[in-house]
Amino acid sequence: MVRDDAYWMGKAIAQARKAEAVGEVPIGAVIVKDGAVIARGHNLRESRQDPAAHAEMIAIRKAAKKLASWRLTGATLYVTLEPCTMCMGAVILSRLDKVVFGSYDPKGGAAGSLFDLSNDKRLNHSVALTPGVRGDETSALLSNFFAALRARKKQFKAGNGEMSEWSMVPDSKSSETEA
Ligand SMILES: [Zn+2]
Repeated sequence: MVRDDAYWMGKAIAQARKAEAVGEVPIGAVIVKDGAVIARGHNLRESRQDPAAHAEMIAIRKAAKKLASWRLTGATLYVTLEPCTMCMGAVILSRLDKVVFGSYDPKGGAAGSLFDLSNDKRLNHSVALTPGVRGDETSALLSNFFAALRARKKQFKAGNGEMSEWSMVPDSKSSETEA
């Protein structure tokens, strides 16, 4: 198999499915350096009740630990959803070379949607961007997750369901695409 962007995005999608499996919004990330995955992460905001537990943050911290360096020069971040301001901040601070993402996040994206922190001359680092890699799949992951969530809520409201694990699932009303 050719180890191209689509291949590595597959690894990030696998991470997103891990998040989904524990009731988290399905967002996943991997960091690749010298042709190998050096760190993985999936969204754990609800599980940890940590606003910073985004897939990218978890992966960036793991990569720095693994390399014993805060500089991730020469590495690429693959993430299923366009990073937010916090994560793009961490991308800049860690000197990553490149960010490849699946879907745009029109409500929170900081790599082209609301902001573009990838190439702001006022910052001391810029990062290459490749959007839209396997975007159909990463978008479907998110829309299927939220559709299922809405269906379960509807069923519960109609009195057909008993209180179950869905009550622990994040409220998506105001945060459809938030990581
Ligand atoms: Zn983020």
